[in-house]
Amino acid sequence: MKLLEGKTALVTGASRGIGRGIAVTLAQHGASVAFTYLSSPDKAKTLEEELSGCGIKAKAYKSDAADFKQAEQLINDIIAEFGVLDIVVNNAGITRDALLMRMSEQQFDEVLKTNLKSVFNITKSCIKPMLRQRQGSIINISSVVGVKGNAGQANYAASKAGIIGFTKSVALELGSRNIRCNAIAPGFIETEMTGVLDEKTVQGWRDAIPLKRGGSPEDVANAVVFLSSGLSSYITGQVVHVDGGMLT
Ligand code: NAP
Repeated sequence: MKLLEGKTALVTGASRGIGRGIAVTLAQHGASVAFTYLSSPDKAKTLEEELSGCGIKAKAYKSDAADFKQAEQLINDIIAEFGVLDIVVNNAGITRDALLMRMSEQQFDEVLKTNLKSVFNITKSCIKPMLRQRQGSIINISSVVGVKGNAGQANYAASKAGIIGFTKSVALELGSRNIRCNAIAPGFIETEMTGVLDEKTVQGWRDAIPLKRGGSPEDVANAVVFLSSGLSSYITGQVVHVDGGMLT
């Protein structure tokens, strides 16, 4: 029997990058997967087919994680379709980088809404079904930047630090109901998000990492599988650093 067989997972923002890697890895471990996308319908369709090829139930939903009403509707639709929701991975995120002196209010608000308010939207909406089921695992994707900061990313760092405080609070509120809530803080993961950086900057990141390489979406996905499964049944309110030793 596979580790996550019989479980149903939601992954937000899975059309590309880390979210895609998480969705595929969860499916490979036997979980049925509902996932969201916003602006990449073709990539979402391809992923839905790939996941179904793993022999599990898979469905793509177009849903803006930053919109509370859409998040509520999404969870209702998933419960109607899959019957249960055991694992929620809040992964959707964006960057709008600028030094604070040049950062617009819009750049700040967009990042906070997509990266942090989305975690509130989805988590609040999934609590009721998880309480009914008397179990659940919520995993929020933060960032090394939320712990140590990064010049040019004050908005992003604030959103990712906010996720850590939110995670710990939810863990305290829901631990007695057998609902666990943990965060993962990836370091430098090679996706389209980091693909916009010039080669010199990328090399600088790689040089600064004790393991001397950027991470892959699968490196993050493997930690998600652990936190989703019974292997981590006594772990809640924690931040798992998947960063090649960057914070050491
Ligand atoms: P990415 O390649 O840019 O992919 C972002 C994903 O989020 C896409 O699937 C996108 O969907 C989706 N998305 C964006 N806004 C959304 C919204 N409002 N509602 C629903 N989905 C939305 O990014 P990534 O590198 O995989 O990053 C994934 C997560 O890991 C983010 O939270 C990021 O902050 C975090 N992270 C990344 C790194 C890194 O080095 N890459 C490091 C630490 C943390 P569409 O394409 O359909 O719009």
